[in-house]
Amino acid sequence: MASFTRVLVANRGEIALRIIRACHEEGLESVAVYSDADRLSPHVRAAHRAVPIGAPPAAESYLDVAKLLEAARATDCQAVHPGYGFLSERAPFAEAVALAGLTFIGPPATAIRAMGDKTEARRRMQAAGVPIVPGTTRPVADHVQAKSEAARLGLPVLLKAIAGGGGKGMRLIREEGELESAFETAQSEALKAFGAGELYVEKYLERPRHIEVQVLADTYGRVVALGERECSIQRRHQKLIEEAPSVAVTPALRRRLSEAATAAAGSVGYLGAGTIEFLLAPTGEFYFLEMNTRLQVEHPVTELVYGVDIVREQLRVAQGQPLRVHSGALQPRGHAIECRITAEDPFNDFLPATGVIRHLQPPSGPGVRWDAGVEAGNEVTLFYDPLLAKLIVWGDTRATALQRMRRALRELVIVGLPSSQSFHLRVMADPEFQRGDVDVTYFERVGQRLLAADLAPELAQPLAIAAALLAEQQRAEATPPPAAPAPDGPSPWLLAARRESIGG
Ligand code: ADP
Repeated sequence: MASFTRVLVANRGEIALRIIRACHEEGLESVAVYSDADRLSPHVRAAHRAVPIGAPPAAESYLDVAKLLEAARATDCQAVHPGYGFLSERAPFAEAVALAGLTFIGPPATAIRAMGDKTEARRRMQAAGVPIVPGTTRPVADHVQAKSEAARLGLPVLLKAIAGGGGKGMRLIREEGELESAFETAQSEALKAFGAGELYVEKYLERPRHIEVQVLADTYGRVVALGERECSIQRRHQKLIEEAPSVAVTPALRRRLSEAATAAAGSVGYLGAGTIEFLLAPTGEFYFLEMNTRLQVEHPVTELVYGVDIVREQLRVAQGQPLRVHSGALQPRGHAIECRITAEDPFNDFLPATGVIRHLQPPSGPGVRWDAGVEAGNEVTLFYDPLLAKLIVWGDTRATALQRMRRALRELVIVGLPSSQSFHLRVMADPEFQRGDVDVTYFERVGQRLLAADLAPELAQPLAIAAALLAEQQRAEATPPPAAPAPDGPSPWLLAARRESIGG
């Protein structure tokens, strides 16, 4: 647990920039890494230094442990922040970082490993007295055993990959006859995605909410829970919109969830920031789903209602300092909502979109936070996750936050490729969502109806701005480029960036 002064940020996009900002506010130096596709990304410019780590495919850059460690060595970093995704939940990476004499900004590898195997995590939670979704706590050997477990639990059930993540290797079984072939496809999907094909069986809960609890733990034995996030607005088990707090959680339920979450984290010797995911049944019972042993995409909604900078706390804990969270911060204040702005076309089954962002006008004003990984001129490719930015708003009540999100979404202008913006506007205008009447099947049930709705007045503003910007750009492209700059003019790097943004 040594103090450090320079951090390698082993990630890209919005989360790399988020971590770099936290480093700077904490008085630390930052070193970014980037693949050839991310040369012009904002995180590269924001860091004190930036190291190229290879070709665009993640396997050749952001997932290449040797290159990351070499980048840390070459720039004299003493610590590595993995962000989320990529190597963040790979225990061998945490171990390799430690072996190289660097501090891994995250939990001990033993905690990552214990929670990374979902059946082991379920066994541990059971032992710690945390309720788990009914189902097996060991992998099932084959579809025959899965069938008998399904009969014991009662249909419907879910087949789940023990190494699962991102909804991969998960299959819903409503009829016994579906089991055999579903077992095979789930197994091969899991093998392909995680290199581990083992599956287990879990009771499928009807219309639960996804409620998760943020925890922070330090080396002084303190484990605190920063309340819950409501993450029920999902598509194919992927979160789209998150809120804090949840309208379904009373102070008494929050206390019980927090107790379960801190018990869960404490039972694996957790350190730093982590998230315990639960399913909350309509009956009010909650069940442990999994623990994410890393920073979460949706962490900002918690930051806004608890007044805590989670990334800065991670940096402190990793240096052996005590958490700065005081007990007064353990009550939520107001309401926060996050919309994930992705390069996906909601009108084409959320097909990932590629292209150059020709114009980008982020929303601003009171209570608005824009955590973006891209800016105008950047090219969006299929190499990485389609998340462009997170739009987060805070309001003193949920109704204020909702109005503010609608206002902010109307201010947002993205020209060059489709995004999820108009889907979010439709959700904000939906009476069911406004009532907080949501569960994990929300998108399945109302997605198509929302997308068919006429939203012209809501979208008039961004569309008009986009059209005007496009016309202006076409005019600019028709005029000859300016003469070469004088030797003491702007840096060639800046000019290159500018050319890129106009050329695309
Ligand atoms: P992954 O790790 O692949 O993301 P999770 O176990 O975290 O998988 O579950 C992701 C989502 O799948 C949940 O938020 C929920 O919407 C749905 N889900 C998972 N388990 C169940 C269950 N037992 N019953 C109903 N829905 C579930």
